[in-house]
Amino acid sequence: MTETIRREIRAVAIIVPVYNEAGVVTSFHKSLATVLDALPQRFTILYVDDGSRDGTPQELASLAAADPRVGVATLSRNFGHQAALSAGLDLADADAVICMDGDGQNPPEEIPGMLGLAETGYDLVQMQRGKHARQGWFKDLSSALFYWLINKVSGTPIAPGVADFRLLTRPAVEALRKMPEYHRFLRGMTAWIGFPSIIRSYTMPERLGGRSKYSLRLMSRLAADALFSFTLRPLYLMVGMGAAFLLFAFLELAYVLSFWLRGLGHTLAPGWSSLMFVILFVGGSTLASLGIVGIYIGYIFQEIKGRPVYVLRHYHKPGEKPD
Ligand code: UDP
Ligand code: MG
Repeated sequence: MTETIRREIRAVAIIVPVYNEAGVVTSFHKSLATVLDALPQRFTILYVDDGSRDGTPQELASLAAADPRVGVATLSRNFGHQAALSAGLDLADADAVICMDGDGQNPPEEIPGMLGLAETGYDLVQMQRGKHARQGWFKDLSSALFYWLINKVSGTPIAPGVADFRLLTRPAVEALRKMPEYHRFLRGMTAWIGFPSIIRSYTMPERLGGRSKYSLRLMSRLAADALFSFTLRPLYLMVGMGAAFLLFAFLELAYVLSFWLRGLGHTLAPGWSSLMFVILFVGGSTLASLGIVGIYIGYIFQEIKGRPVYVLRHYHKPGEKPD
């Protein structure tokens, strides 16, 4: 059961990473501004220019000139979607932060609903695209495969169709800031920090224009970050396989012994018993020890990420009045 509390959200920061979205980002901003104008909260819109090489910087500058709510953070080069989002999360100062794509695929019309959920006590409102939202057979297939694999292998569950359209409250953002790891997979990280969360589904529209920046290479890199930075399971699997081969070696030994005990030793092909044992034993122990070495490296990797050991959700100081 998730404990829910009513709370007020006054200041909201919208974080929008953009990379070569000239033409697209201005129409996105129009639709965003229309939604925000009708809402009571105080909004800031932070565009993170992830090293665009088209007219995006100029468009962002004129958006900022025309709308006092707009801020623009410019990265020195293209660092990638996850890094751009992280930059936005580090810069935001608000009761709640909403991350969304600047290509119109994350409809601003969902914002009031997301804020409503945050006000009932959820610290993470994770948006999930509806099942019918098709993105072409290749993207559908690779995405289905990806979510299946990550959920099989990693201890941090991630719902399918969930991308980087989400609301985070200030405590959740602060927890993310304490995770300085280089290989970032925010979907996993936001699940890892805990906090009361809810998944809300939405219908994903087509891009307003331009084309997807997620090439096959980028998608594979994201998948690798998700897998290797969230689990050591593949290493445990290696040790398990090594152990299985060792078990086979001893089973083989027992099998051969049973022949000798029954006086049937001469019926075995000469050389087979010893050769088989050596192969299984050496293979098994090599695999198991490689896996063990791997686990040590994995532990070093986890330590080096410098993740916090725990994340505090709330701290009521002694003698403090309840809020
Ligand atoms: N994006 C970014 N840096 C990148 C790639 C993408 O900031 O290196 C932005 C992009 O401009 C868009 C959002 O991240 O606002 C999502 O990217 P895209 O729409 O290309 O991904 P898709 O929707 O195809 O998964
Ligand atoms: Mg998109």
